[in-house]
Amino acid sequence: HKPFQMGSIIFKNVSFSYDDKQDVLKQTSFDIQPGETVAIVGKTGSGKSTIINLLLKFYKANRGNVTIDGVDINEYSTQELRKNIGYVSQDPHIFAGDLFFNIGLYNQNNHDQIITAAKIVGADKFISEMPLGYHTVLSERGSELSSGQKQLITFARAIVNNPSILILDEATAKIDSESEEDISTALNKIVSGRTTIIIAHRLNTIKNSDKIIVMDNGQVVEEGRHEEL
Ligand code: ATP
Ligand code: MG
Repeated sequence: HKPFQMGSIIFKNVSFSYDDKQDVLKQTSFDIQPGETVAIVGKTGSGKSTIINLLLKFYKANRGNVTIDGVDINEYSTQELRKNIGYVSQDPHIFAGDLFFNIGLYNQNNHDQIITAAKIVGADKFISEMPLGYHTVLSERGSELSSGQKQLITFARAIVNNPSILILDEATAKIDSESEEDISTALNKIVSGRTTIIIAHRLNTIKNSDKIIVMDNGQVVEEGRHEEL
């Protein structure tokens, strides 16, 4: 299959259970248009991360279907699917390796692409100021970096292959207000031109999204713009 281009996402009557006993998604349906930024909110355990788990094919829906650009996700290979979806997990992960590896991973030799991604998120400056620049080797956990800088690295990593879909599980941890601004700026840049799903905790993220999906107990209970809810 050709990799998807537009990034429209449709969940139609999706049900899913981790244990074959209790459904944690119950006939969940929603549509996301190409280029939209959608915030998913809801209580703990309501099924937000499960939606992401299905979309990235970590698990398979029991009933219903998930399509991207009109094609059932089961028809995309897992590798192809994940290559075209940028993913930022809740906990910014840093690897033992240099900055080229931390951003590019297995495409660590695409230096131009990596530097472009770092520039977009505003990480190029602090990386260039490090002793060996992009060749500086970070320790596992990245103790050389502030929590805000680590977050920017994970943003650069998510967009390095220019994916049409971006998924962000927003960190709940408090970040100092100075980095908070850098992160918001970076966030606005990386979502631009992509279909984005953000599991949102910050009011600002929610306000800036095109649509909000409210999950409760495995179901979409409300959907609309911030002003409408
Ligand atoms: P949070 O805000 O706490 O991250 P969430 O909305 O992301 O919550 P999910 O992680 O989707 O919630 O969990 C939905 C339900 O599925 C919960 O009851 C949870 O305990 C259960 N669950 C999540 N992951 C697994 C798993 N890997 N195995 C079994 N049950 C799971
Ligand atoms: Mg979750």
